[in-house]
Amino acid sequence: MSCIGENITQIKGELPSSVELVAVSKFHPVEAVIEAYKAGQRSFGESRPQEMAAKVKEMREWLVSNGLEDDIRWHFIGHLQTNKLKMVLPYVSLVQSVDSLHLLEAIDDWGAKNDRTVDVLLECHIAAEATKQGFSADEIISIMTSERKFRNINFCGLMGMATFTDDEALIRADFSRLLALNAVLQGMKGDYPNLGSSFGTLSFGMSEDYRIAVEMGAGMVRVGTAIFGARQY
Ligand SMILES: *Cc1c(COP(=O)(O)O)cnc(C)c1O
Repeated sequence: MSCIGENITQIKGELPSSVELVAVSKFHPVEAVIEAYKAGQRSFGESRPQEMAAKVKEMREWLVSNGLEDDIRWHFIGHLQTNKLKMVLPYVSLVQSVDSLHLLEAIDDWGAKNDRTVDVLLECHIAAEATKQGFSADEIISIMTSERKFRNINFCGLMGMATFTDDEALIRADFSRLLALNAVLQGMKGDYPNLGSSFGTLSFGMSEDYRIAVEMGAGMVRVGTAIFGARQY
């Protein structure tokens, strides 16, 4: 088996079966996605619209030429500009990185025009760095308790990224903020039009901290480097 395949097998072996592994293939060539696919991986994360659209197309061609059906689930995990929606939304099974009301409204409009309901996670800013994208916990509460129904959005849960640090206590404190926010929202389920039964996925944990994330209750981890190696920017 390839090195990528071995990494996937090893990481999957560590994860409880309830945790979904999203293989973050951004900046890696389609050949790397094929290696991962051959090892049984089906969920992939991408962060740039053009790159994702190209890989979706190349993977479809590869699958067809091998007599396979397209069973890949693409996750969008990067900053999404509203003028790029049509490059991403037709192909994606989950937008993990909704980080502004403007983007949320644009996705809802796109869904209405295209007769689609889009599964999303709201990205919560939990890290110490000011540079990371995302809503504050208060902003997320105000969206989720709003009387305004986003008809073409299915709110599936929350995504977060911890501070980039070796300090495990800091990482745990960041993840705890996401868990606390989720607990508040779970307590209000059913009382608000946007907060339905599908809300509950927690996506946190990357190559350096997915073990901590799993221990703390992540339902989805997004792992790039530990599967595909270092990215060439
Ligand atoms: C790049 C990226 C990842 C993967 O990071 P690694 O450290 O390579 O595992 C996970 N989540 C998001 C949002 C990313 O942008």
